[in-house]
Amino acid sequence: MPILEVQDLKTHYKTDSGRVKAADGISFSLDEGESVGIAGESGCGKTTVIMSLMRLVDQRDIVGGKVILDGESILDMPEDQFRHLRWKKMSLVSQAAMGALNPVFTVGWQIVEAIREHSDMSKKEALGLASELLEQVGIDPSRLHTYPHELSGGMRQRAMIAMALACSPKIVIADEMTTALDVVTQVQILKLFQELQERLNLSVIAISHELPILGQICENIMVMYAGKVVELGPTEVLFREPLHPYTQWLLESLVDIEGPRKAPKGIPGRPPSLLNPPVGCRFAARCRYTKPVCQEQEPPLVEIRKKHSVACHLVAK
Ligand code: SF4
Repeated sequence: MPILEVQDLKTHYKTDSGRVKAADGISFSLDEGESVGIAGESGCGKTTVIMSLMRLVDQRDIVGGKVILDGESILDMPEDQFRHLRWKKMSLVSQAAMGALNPVFTVGWQIVEAIREHSDMSKKEALGLASELLEQVGIDPSRLHTYPHELSGGMRQRAMIAMALACSPKIVIADEMTTALDVVTQVQILKLFQELQERLNLSVIAISHELPILGQICENIMVMYAGKVVELGPTEVLFREPLHPYTQWLLESLVDIEGPRKAPKGIPGRPPSLLNPPVGCRFAARCRYTKPVCQEQEPPLVEIRKKHSVACHLVAK
């Protein structure tokens, strides 16, 4: 049984101009120890999906769908009940560790608080576990009493990972985990994350605007465009043989640092407004293969081959 099942999730933000359909019918599942990376341009709905899973959006904006976490339906659960599952079953490593860590408390205190909030450990036991967690992420446990501003960017991100692991969750969500870091530190953090993923058999949902980063830590990639999933499949297959024109474009726009020097290729045009998304395929206005049916009918997400689904009229089963 999957550890997480997302079925037709719809998060439509209420604004003065109407509902913004930021995530519009998202479905995917995650097995224990499995990982999925969510890719797409800014505004495609990646963050909305993970914030909805963590129930960190206004619940009135989640207008449809179901999320089953380890056998429990969580969207219709009272907040008091869900608070016990958040961090225990599913935790979040956010992109800005400095903003996520409280600057007025030591890193150790914050980890201890997270542990004690979700367990009946004594302060002494929680302190012992916090030291172990810091060691696991490569921070000397003597730094338990340091404040976030006394740590480097990479160390803060390691501390965030330690906090995310504090309650032994089954799923860790990594939100642009390495975006604010320099390239060398990025490599170290990704390596650490991969090691922990394997050692603890974590299920992972990662989001990043950098496809190569997702390729490094995720065995599956889900590509989103304008609030919809347009392609979902094993990373290796998607990188080798992307089927959706948008995925192809995303991969073509990557800069090959080892190949001959070429100007980076952008994707012309802009995504549609999600206040009133177009009928038919939402990528139609930018697609080089558009045909009349694309403007009339929305392409369904169809499984083309095992674990590889695409939403495009060109790619019929
Ligand atoms: Fe392009 Fe049509 Fe496929 Fe949309 S459905 S991606 S417009 S070919």
